[in-house]
Amino acid sequence: VSRFEAITMAPPDPILGISEAFKADTDAKKLNLGVGAYRTEELQPYVLNVVKKAEKLMLDKGENKEYLPIEGLAAFNKVTADLLFGSENPLIKQQKIATVQGLSGTGSLRLAAALIERYFPGAKVLISSPSWGNHKNIFNDARVPWSEYRYYDPKTVGLDFEGMVADIKEAPEGSFVLLHGCAHNPTGIDPTPDQWEKIADVIQEKNHIPFFDVAYQGFASGSLDADAASVRLFAARGTELLVAQSYSKNLGLYAERIGAINVVCTSADAAARVKSQLKRIARPMHSNPPIHGARIVANIVGDPTLFNEWKVEMEMMAGRIKNVRQKLFDSLSAKDKSGKDWSFILKQIGMFSFTGLSRAQSDNMSNKWHVYMTKDGRISLAGLSLAKCEYLADAIMDSYH
Ligand code: PMP
Repeated sequence: VSRFEAITMAPPDPILGISEAFKADTDAKKLNLGVGAYRTEELQPYVLNVVKKAEKLMLDKGENKEYLPIEGLAAFNKVTADLLFGSENPLIKQQKIATVQGLSGTGSLRLAAALIERYFPGAKVLISSPSWGNHKNIFNDARVPWSEYRYYDPKTVGLDFEGMVADIKEAPEGSFVLLHGCAHNPTGIDPTPDQWEKIADVIQEKNHIPFFDVAYQGFASGSLDADAASVRLFAARGTELLVAQSYSKNLGLYAERIGAINVVCTSADAAARVKSQLKRIARPMHSNPPIHGARIVANIVGDPTLFNEWKVEMEMMAGRIKNVRQKLFDSLSAKDKSGKDWSFILKQIGMFSFTGLSRAQSDNMSNKWHVYMTKDGRISLAGLSLAKCEYLADAIMDSYH
């Protein structure tokens, strides 16, 4: 008899499990709108040309593959903070930011979660309802208590701003408030600049610590600076804050696992101490981070020509998603005779759209129409082509009514 008898079968991951169901479907019409990964109009994975160029330069240089320091590649850590806060930000010159390379967004969030668990015992993390499903897993595994704040209003398919502010206000002082820097996943609904100011007001009032998850910088609007506006607004107030970054989407480096955790402190001395503790946390977790993606980012951002090429390609990707969004809206509006207002689709930002489809309706999408999406009604527009919009609109119409 096996000593592993007591280990039960784990449920499939709600997002990555969709790809498995998609693979098993043999219908030619099938569409995978589950995972948030950019596809071309031909629905093929896309490696950015600027990444290929940077990789060729790296190969030509013949760099070695020795271990990085625990905190990661110094040139990467510099540019990643520059991209986020703006290279002229005084916080950088004053060395008030502790930046440590992490295993993409997920690994960077996990490092921060461990820091919270160790140095803020009992402090709660407030997570938007809904949020990216892995947030709860990350804090659960780090043994950090969390609760949810209201975010999505199903009546308007928009932001429940009053509810959000009330819940942040009500949380115990000194909580961490997890915020999506831009292109909220899964809803695609972001606060307005004015609302961000008010959110910052309440967070400061309650002595909370803002904790940004930035997984889509540049990918939402097409502009790196515009998508960092929320983070910079908080940084400009001189508050302490945490920011996890990912290069999975904006540079298409999904499997390279490249990202960072930044902790903004009120002194260089505090930043040095926080950084030393982040390194101490990283050492037994992954020892030191992978080098390939870090070099790609550092080489691209460090070279003005490549940096510009990246911006052009990022705009192209963001633009394709916007075109698909428009086409889907047009198709739905033309097909729906019920008078339903579909304009919420146009108001949403980034790779995802929250359709308002229920779990049962989402099941109909996959069972009858071979369209795979998360059961909360989220579709990834990055996995959709202009050519497939009509088909998707038919599927949504059938499932809704
Ligand atoms: N946060 C959010 C909100 C995300 O949507 C994602 C990617 N789906 C991530 C973090 C992390 O992704 P990765 O670990 O690939 O950087």
